[in-house]
Amino acid sequence: MMVSPAPGPMPTTLTLDEAVARRWDMVIVGAGPAGAATALRLAAAGHAVLIVDRDEFPRGKVCGCCLSSAAIAELDALGIDVRSSAVGGVPLERVRLMVRRRWTPLGMPSGIVLSREALDVTLLRRAIEAGCHWLPHAHVSGCDVVDTEARVAMRAGAGQVATLRARRCVIATGLGDHVRIGVAATDRRRRRVNAAARIGLGAWLPEDAADLGPGELVMAVARHGYCGVVRLEDGRLDLAAAVDRRAVAAVSGPASLVVEVIDESGLGRAMPGLAPALARVPLRATPRLTHDAPLVAGGGRILRVGDAAGYVEPFTGEGIGWAISAARILADTLLDTAAEEVGVRYASRHRRYARPARTRCRGVALAVRVPLAIAAAGSLARFAPPLARRLVPWVVGGVPSVESSR
Ligand SMILES: Cc1cc2nc3c(=O)[nH]c(=O)nc-3n(C[C@H](O)[C@H](O)[C@H](O)COP(=O)(O)OP(=O)(O)OC[C@H]3O[C@@H](n4cnc5c(N)ncnc54)[C@H](O)[C@@H]3O)c2cc1C
Repeated sequence: MMVSPAPGPMPTTLTLDEAVARRWDMVIVGAGPAGAATALRLAAAGHAVLIVDRDEFPRGKVCGCCLSSAAIAELDALGIDVRSSAVGGVPLERVRLMVRRRWTPLGMPSGIVLSREALDVTLLRRAIEAGCHWLPHAHVSGCDVVDTEARVAMRAGAGQVATLRARRCVIATGLGDHVRIGVAATDRRRRRVNAAARIGLGAWLPEDAADLGPGELVMAVARHGYCGVVRLEDGRLDLAAAVDRRAVAAVSGPASLVVEVIDESGLGRAMPGLAPALARVPLRATPRLTHDAPLVAGGGRILRVGDAAGYVEPFTGEGIGWAISAARILADTLLDTAAEEVGVRYASRHRRYARPARTRCRGVALAVRVPLAIAAAGSLARFAPPLARRLVPWVVGGVPSVESSR
């Protein structure tokens, strides 16, 4: 099997002292797809942009690592061809669903498998090439507005406390958004988390843990959750799951629940090496998946984008595409809107874009909680493939127009 090498480390482009000394047009907190795509677009338009992250890059992340057609189109629009050998994406050629011990082949619209290490570093590198500055090991704790500027409080890797200054701050911190908004910037809305929301779990398994070809995705659905397994471009297997939080407490921990999902669905019998491999590797967890946060605070000086602004369970694997689309909407708004109207216009454009997709995904997430319904849909797909071919693209979302969000 051809194996793409892991991307090398992404060195910082400036010192902490240099970052603190400047007043930036934009400080972006979080260098995942949402933050890096926003940084790339704004830096390319000539803005002084600093992107910071608590981690160094490349870093892994709990994710199914499948790029939807929408994500591929958004990346193309940024000049990133994920299929190229330089990036290493593997075309998704075969998708199979295992539920109630039966396989259902799914005809999925074209997708690409790519590790988050490779994807996120590629985006960040492009943002830096466009002129953005990069500071890793910068853990942001809070953001407030003082006079006409955003103040971003952070702790550096060596423990120093520092404040970054900018005209605006973009919070792109993903699901675990722990950035405290200061008193001067608070607005009336608060973050809402769905109490019944599932949590995400993920792990990387050794190459020989399952007989799974490159470009092949298997999804297993059971009562208390579902999981997907895919082979990454570097040979590792990526396992990503969404499970009921309460069910974790009823078994002896998150790994046991993933094994339960694998066994109950029938995947354990088809791939007997998965469960033992899972017992030997660390499992990462995410906060609750379905939530909704205010897009704008501090009179438009603080803006959220990507998962930090809201997310719905990931069965259809669309989060990366949503994050990059939202980054485009945010950057377009910052570039074409009078400063005092940015907050209102961004909120209205984002709502128009995100609402239909989130509503569709909520429906899918509810259906996935009933394996019998998924098994029935699987039978339909087996016996009426033309109908399935029409339905699947609707379920997983179409390709957005990336021309303009105006
Ligand atoms: C189980 C699971 C499976 C998924 N599968 C898929 C899939 O197959 N396809 C798909 O398209 N999407 C999938 N997703 C969704 C996808 O992972 C997210 O939607 C996507 O990563 C969102 O990008 P983001 O930039 O908003 O956030 P993230 O990618 O989470 O990036 C946020 C960044 O912010 C940094 N950060 C956080 N807090 C701070 C702080 N206080 N200070 C500084 N830095 C901070 C983090 O280190 C991180 O680098 C899945 C999600 C889960 C949970």
